[in-house]
Amino acid sequence: MKKSSAAKSIQDLQFFGEFGGVNPSISDSSTYTFLSAQSMADTFEGKGEGCYLYSRHTSPSGLYLSEALAKMEATESAHVFASGMGAITSVILQLCKAGDHIVSSRTVYGGTYAFMKNFTPKFQIESNFVDITDLNSVENAIQKNTKVLYCETVSNPLMEVANIQALSKIAQKHKVTLVVDNTFTPLILRPKELGADVVIHSLTKFINGSSDTVGGAVCASEEFINALKDVNDGAAMLLGQTLDSLRASSVLKNLRTLPIRMKQHSANALYLANAFQELGFRVIYPGLEKAKSHEIMKNQMDKNIGFGGLFCLDLGSLEKANLFMEMLQHKNLGYLAVSLGFYKTLFSAPGSSTSSEIAEEEQATMGLSEGLVRFSIGLDYAIEDTFNEMKKCLEILDIKPSNVLI
Ligand code: PLP
Repeated sequence: MKKSSAAKSIQDLQFFGEFGGVNPSISDSSTYTFLSAQSMADTFEGKGEGCYLYSRHTSPSGLYLSEALAKMEATESAHVFASGMGAITSVILQLCKAGDHIVSSRTVYGGTYAFMKNFTPKFQIESNFVDITDLNSVENAIQKNTKVLYCETVSNPLMEVANIQALSKIAQKHKVTLVVDNTFTPLILRPKELGADVVIHSLTKFINGSSDTVGGAVCASEEFINALKDVNDGAAMLLGQTLDSLRASSVLKNLRTLPIRMKQHSANALYLANAFQELGFRVIYPGLEKAKSHEIMKNQMDKNIGFGGLFCLDLGSLEKANLFMEMLQHKNLGYLAVSLGFYKTLFSAPGSSTSSEIAEEEQATMGLSEGLVRFSIGLDYAIEDTFNEMKKCLEILDIKPSNVLI
């Protein structure tokens, strides 16, 4: 299948401001006037072409960003949310009602997992969690009442790569909606072109890239986006997870540099993943030739960008992981912080932070060992120097690969 370039679609954007400015004007209104009472009534019935009714529904700044994200993901339409979780929860509640069922990858962001495991059962929506790389177990988990097949392109934190084309065939066969969270790999993979129905992003991460904003997006068909925004039963409209205009316009400005940032994050991560692997450590990164996910990733990705900015390094125990992370921060090689996609390297031990919602025994079955550290590699100018500094920290702390229990 010929894939188009998501990076180019961003460059092709052309928006002018109200007064010819090179940036679109920021809409500073929660509500809008109508020139006639009839056009107000029409707008509430979804017929008012070009009219805004209220900013919880749509704002001009939100629409500019949505349009850009729809282009990036090659979907008909998009809608922006106050957070990635706002997007995820709205999509699930839009697609499922009481009595429905979800099949989800067992390695997803901890908040997503907690929502499906603990929250939706209150509304009689049950979920089964499967190894998304085992297509037989995915298909076997689908029941008559399954409505959603849910995964992340590259999973958080274990970096398992979903075979979206194969999952899409299963989804179509059983008439379920394939929902893919593409937060880890914007521009690298375009899930819609590989067969996904709904694509989700946490804008908080790479897309915004400056760790100053929380936001989310759903990219999908016009029909689905309109359903989300419906004034009578749309989850986006009724749950009210709206992205503020000021934030929407700042994310749009940051989106323009995403192609160069993703390339640099990816090149730096590939360098470090190889270097730590050469030292003998267990490293999980789809860019490594020996990685289980390497071939699937290569078949689906835009090779001009790279394999993404995240990898996991196993330090053998939580104690060693904590000492290493504290020393890296002390030496100003990054921050001991959750989240990803920042100019500076961010690191955390997912087992006791972003994935702590997952029970310990489940963590063990899925290979989430306690000494695993997730790195979101920054935009470091001289990555060789960064590696040498990191290696010195390992030496000072006497952390050796031979100490690592795999
Ligand atoms: N999806 C993934 C893959 C994430 O890593 C996160 C947060 O870490 C989210 C969704 C949730 O996004 P937000 O924090 O913007 O609500």
